Amino acid sequence: MLFEHLNLDPRLLSAVTEAGYTEPTPVQAQAIPALLTGSDLMVTSRTGSGKTAAFMLPALHRLATRPLSGKGPRLLILSPTRELASQITEAAKIYGKNLKQVRTVTLLGGTPYPVQNRNLARPYDILVATPGRLLDQMDSRRVDLSQVEMLVLDEADRMLDMGFIDDVKRIASATPITRQTLMFSATFDKPIARLAETLLRDPVRIEATSLKAAHENIDQRLHYVDNLAHKNRLLAHLLADVDLNQAIIFTATKRDADLLADDLSGQGHSAAALHGDMHQGARNRTLDGLRHGRLRVLVATDVAARGIDVPGISHVINYDLPKVAEDYVHRIGRTGRAGNKGIAISLASSRDFLQLQRIERFTGKSIDVHTIAGFEPRMPIRPPSRSARPGPASKGRSNPAQDRPQHREARTPWSAEPRQNKAPIRKRAG
Ligand code: ADP
Ligand code: MG
Repeated sequence: MLFEHLNLDPRLLSAVTEAGYTEPTPVQAQAIPALLTGSDLMVTSRTGSGKTAAFMLPALHRLATRPLSGKGPRLLILSPTRELASQITEAAKIYGKNLKQVRTVTLLGGTPYPVQNRNLARPYDILVATPGRLLDQMDSRRVDLSQVEMLVLDEADRMLDMGFIDDVKRIASATPITRQTLMFSATFDKPIARLAETLLRDPVRIEATSLKAAHENIDQRLHYVDNLAHKNRLLAHLLADVDLNQAIIFTATKRDADLLADDLSGQGHSAAALHGDMHQGARNRTLDGLRHGRLRVLVATDVAARGIDVPGISHVINYDLPKVAEDYVHRIGRTGRAGNKGIAISLASSRDFLQLQRIERFTGKSIDVHTIAGFEPRMPIRPPSRSARPGPASKGRSNPAQDRPQHREARTPWSAEPRQNKAPIRKRAG
């Protein structure tokens, strides 16, 4: 399958070629034809599978080929976080670079109103927004959604997790009922299914890859630690690995992200923190540093790291395990981008058993225990996944726990040799 076969506007095809894409990803190959026929769409697929272009290309095609009907956005994209919204805007620019007449406005919390207000005063076609700020602007009558032809909910699962469900519904109800609606989610659980039922009409349903298959390019490892000191020693050792190109380290709290980033900087690493308490300018500078390789280590909280797409990230390290099992999938999806290989390392102590169980139940996959000579845990620790069973969540039809693998016998951590993975991290061309 080639992009040429998708009947997209030639100006979009040339932008795609310039972006260095040769063929559509599986999600794109399935979603684009369905969207061009006007169907609603529900996509569950792994992170890094190319969902942005899957909706942006057909949306731009529509904007390019049909005349403007009036003022106000024709395409509305909702995003849970500012970072993701910025990336979507970036994608709109890249894919729409040959459509000079298409204008995009981005509404993010934390950015100054005067600039936003000025942007909103001129005609525009695409609105990318986080729900809170959009509602603000709707309430002050600066945004009118009556011309929306297409509504996109990106990372809808996350929007629900972050408590945006009522906001999303309110926003949707301000758009015409005739709109085309698209929902993207890494998971398809009950709340997502319910929201889809409310907002979508007869959607085409695409499940690009199961979560299990999704992370085949990511080597997931579990290291047991005795205590905080052990954890920090092990982390220092991991960061000394020359095969580690760039890493995101996840902590449970913003404060810990700051403290750990300071610690690591003190140890001579080019490290910085990223979390929701930082000003947008600082967040952007940090992400820029990561993207351009000035930063090797980013210490982040879940919300801030959502949607980060930097191909150089070879490692994700869970310094603290995520509180929500789904977040584990999102975290490790920050590595292994665009066909690269990635390594995801979770550091866990005996207190983390329950959480580990929940994660393994959710992904349907037990995480292999690794030890490194000189850093073995003192206590023999029972592998948690022996008792991991598919939980209640396994009833959904898209739940990957249904095809979970058999546990291997070689899981005993204290007898296993530390495995080496020397697969080079490939840099994305271009
Ligand atoms: P998702 O939203 O599914 O997590 P993204 O849309 O952020 O994924 O895309 C992940 C990465 O893949 C981006 O760097 C994007 O530029 C790249 N990409 C998207 N489509 C293609 C393609 N057809 N060929 C090669 N790379 C692609
Ligand atoms: Mg995405």
